[in-house]
Amino acid sequence: MSQGTLSESSIGTRDARGHWRPDYRLQMPAPFRRPLRAGALARWFLGFPGYLWPWNLLYFAIALGAWLALTPSLATMQTLEPGWIGYILARNVVITSVFFGAWHLYFYVVKAQGKAFKYTERPPATDSKLFLFGNQVRDNIFWTLASGVTIWTAYEVLMLWAYANGWLLYVDWETSPVWFVVLLLLIPVFREAHFYVVHRVSHWRPLYDHAHYLHHRNVNVNPWSGMSMHPIEHLLYFSGPLIHLVLPSHPLHVLFHLFHTGLSPAKGHCGFERIVAGERSLVCGNWFHYLHHTHFECNYGSDSVPVLDKIFGSFHDGSPEADARLKEKRLARLRAMRGASPAAGGELEGAA
Ligand SMILES: [Zn+2]
Ligand SMILES: [Zn+2]
Repeated sequence: MSQGTLSESSIGTRDARGHWRPDYRLQMPAPFRRPLRAGALARWFLGFPGYLWPWNLLYFAIALGAWLALTPSLATMQTLEPGWIGYILARNVVITSVFFGAWHLYFYVVKAQGKAFKYTERPPATDSKLFLFGNQVRDNIFWTLASGVTIWTAYEVLMLWAYANGWLLYVDWETSPVWFVVLLLLIPVFREAHFYVVHRVSHWRPLYDHAHYLHHRNVNVNPWSGMSMHPIEHLLYFSGPLIHLVLPSHPLHVLFHLFHTGLSPAKGHCGFERIVAGERSLVCGNWFHYLHHTHFECNYGSDSVPVLDKIFGSFHDGSPEADARLKEKRLARLRAMRGASPAAGGELEGAA
């Protein structure tokens, strides 16, 4: 958390079109840098914000609360019945609405910090044929709740039903405390690596045209854009917790995995770099993923595990030089297309 007179103009630049970009360059987090440095690793893990808190601990606290107070007993869940399935669906709808709604309320209704640290000055679209009801936020809420939470709940119900019937490898805190904690700590890393893979696959042209395009209508993102996806993409996106079919786990691991998957996109798409509270501010936005929404062909993973983008050549560090490299890559591809088909020449003129 930063204190003092930190303003958007002291750490970034807003251009004439109202786009703000931070001055810093995205880097590999400490575990992916060589040589490994103990101090940097400790700051990455325990800093504020760091790997543990506030965000991962927040998602864990919500999952723990849901497991302890808002999940039926395993005995109840031994048979698939509408009562407890409907209860879990309602619980997830309420938690998602409150969580995403709070981000939206703070930044876009109360406008608690105006446009300070907002990546673009434009508000969400309120009169666009691109979106259901002509309204970006209402469209995003529809896809989040109708498709996202339903598919999340389907995965959760099937996994809990399997635990209740003793079909999965079960561990608990009393008998395997070390593995229990290690697995909790690994879940966010695994989730983000899984996200890279399914997201990269979603950019395969047929899948993009039938599913992922729906998420990418949101170039100017807001918290509700995060989980606004096509049902096909939700099926892929929420499939990460299936890893617990083969890993010895507790139902709490599955819930943490699912809540992390379901809730973290609100922060990741909030559209602001920092949340300001008086003299203090905290990094909350996701410049890494915002670049993906503006440029499409970069940063498929996440800012915690960007190493996969680095390895596969799609890492964008946020600099104007990286913008230029991406543009050159596109032009080279169009030139190659023009070589194969003279009709692509017009597209080349437009791209330049
Ligand atoms: Zn996104
Ligand atoms: Zn994408």
